Amino acid sequence: MPRAARPLDVTKMVKCPYCSRPAMTLWRKSALGPGRVVSCQSCGKPVAAHWTGILAAIPAFLGGFVLMESENVPLGIAAVIGGVIAMGLLHTFLVPLVRSDA
Ligand SMILES: [Zn+2]
Repeated sequence: MPRAARPLDVTKMVKCPYCSRPAMTLWRKSALGPGRVVSCQSCGKPVAAHWTGILAAIPAFLGGFVLMESENVPLGIAAVIGGVIAMGLLHTFLVPLVRSDA
């Protein structure tokens, strides 16, 4: 029986640029910062998040800015937490994996 197509194919977001198999888990990718190189779990070749991953950190920076400027500390902390969560989601679902030696 064929499997139903999912609206968002998450495996495509962790696809290895060398072997096209999943290079890592989504959880591992969400913790992968810009410029970090890891070995593909399928073929062992070095893969990295695309440099646009740096842009995913913007919400976290904005959250830190709100925390520094705001008189309201709980609001600032909430802004930081929200920014970090947004960064993880953006990084996991929008930033592609690329060959680190390219
Ligand atoms: Zn691979």
